This record gives sequence, C-alpha cells and structure tokens, in this order.
Amino acid sequence: MAKLSVTLIDVGHGDCIFIETEDSSKDLHFALIDCPDSRFQRPGFLYVKRRVERLYPDKKKRPHPIFEFVMMTHSHKDHCLGLSRIIKEFGCKAFLHGRMTSGASSTHVLSYVKRTMASSTFLVDSTTPFPVPSLGVANLTVLYPDSSPASISENDNSVVLAIEQDGISVLLTGDIENGCWSAITVPSGTEAIKAPHHGASNATISSPGISPWVPLLTNAKVGISCHSVPHGHPDPASVALIELSHTVYRTDLHGDVSFCIENGAFTVKCWQ
Ligand SMILES: [Zn+2]
Ligand SMILES: [Zn+2]
Repeated sequence: MAKLSVTLIDVGHGDCIFIETEDSSKDLHFALIDCPDSRFQRPGFLYVKRRVERLYPDKKKRPHPIFEFVMMTHSHKDHCLGLSRIIKEFGCKAFLHGRMTSGASSTHVLSYVKRTMASSTFLVDSTTPFPVPSLGVANLTVLYPDSSPASISENDNSVVLAIEQDGISVLLTGDIENGCWSAITVPSGTEAIKAPHHGASNATISSPGISPWVPLLTNAKVGISCHSVPHGHPDPASVALIELSHTVYRTDLHGDVSFCIENGAFTVKCWQ
C-alpha cells in the first residue's frame, strides 16, 4: 500500500505545495515546495502545523527535521517569503533552490539556510551536480532548467519537477512562461500538472495559439494555485481555453487541491 499526495495549499497569493508519501511499512516522508507566507498571514505554516499535529499528536514522537527537502522554485515573494519560518519550526534535511537573477526577495531565506544548513543547501542546475533527495516510494526528476544560461526573467528560472509513483507523474512547474517548454520532456504517464505561473496568460496563451503544455497534457488534470490579488491570476480567458480540453481545479474555488496516487490509481481530492 504505497501512497503519494501532492497538495496545492490554498494560500491565496502564490504557491505552497505539500508532498506526503507513505510506503508499505507506513513510513511517512514529506517535502515542501515554496511558501509565500508573510509576517501576518501564515496559511502555509498553519497547514503544515495542522497536518503534522494530526499525524503526530504526541509531540515527543514527532520527527525532526520533518521535511526530506524544502525547495524554492525561484526567488519571487509569492514563492519564498515564508520558507525560513517553516524550516526553522519543522526542519529540513536539504534545501534546494533554483537559479536567480534578482535575489532581493529571497535574500533572507538564502542567508538563513546558508547560516544554519550550508552543507545541505543546493542549487538545482543541470550544469552543477546536486543530490536528488529521496522521498520514500516516490521518484523525483528535475525537468528544468536545462543547461542554457539563467534567464533575465525570474519566472523562467523556476525549477520544474516530476514526482512519480507507480508510473504516474505529477508535474510541478513553478512560474515558467511559454518559452521554456521546448526544453522540457513531459514524462509519459503524467496525470496532473500545476498550471505554470498561476494560470497567467503569459504561461497559457502563446501567440498565435495556446501554450505547448496544454495540448501535450490532454489527459492530465490541471491544478491552479491562484494569485488573484494583486496580479489577477488566473487569467479568465486562459482558464476558459484550458477548460476546453481539461478538468481544472483552482485553489480559490476548491480550497486545497490534492493529487493522489495510491496503488497505481490516480484521484483528485478538494478540501473546500
Ligand atoms: Zn508566482
Ligand atoms: Zn514568479
């Protein structure tokens, strides 16, 4: 009985993705990708806290660090502001981060991890070897970035991951925009994708048609981590186009959205 769930947490303004696996021995493994929490709004932190307390009601039996790895896909605020608080509270064995051209938003996170866990902080870059973390029964593959130089567009430096179990993959795409897809090979068996860049038009509508990922992934369910204020993501016209061929789950309408794989079967659960 192997289980994997990838949950797009309804944080309201960015990405925060909680990954949980359970193997046949009931051993649990966790990872977190991105967190936009601010000092006063902590939906990502509170989700993790509730989940950990439910799984380990006895604090003395709670593992520390909790996370096999925490990843910052790129250095925009809606992906990185809350990471240091989560790492401080719950701990992680490895911190992975993407390439960056403008580090202002992530300076505090990087300085925190370099101060506290320098030897287990890794740049995810196809030109530099880094240890791919273990995640129980799930397999992790970095699909992007490729070996081209870092982009001047911070979104296009996002790390793209495939998380696979039982031959079924979930794609996590950060905020990449349309031009990146020529460098990405989509795994066969992909059943779900987190829509890139919160469903923004520059990640969905590509002149003269639709972004390459949409026809590539016809059979996949689409999850959107919304960022409506102030950016207006997802773009209504983009969602309408995706919905012509895909079932869409949005955190602003469906709450937390979980892509689940259990014994070779894929399901979507919404927690609104
Ligand atoms: Zn974003
Ligand atoms: Zn971004």
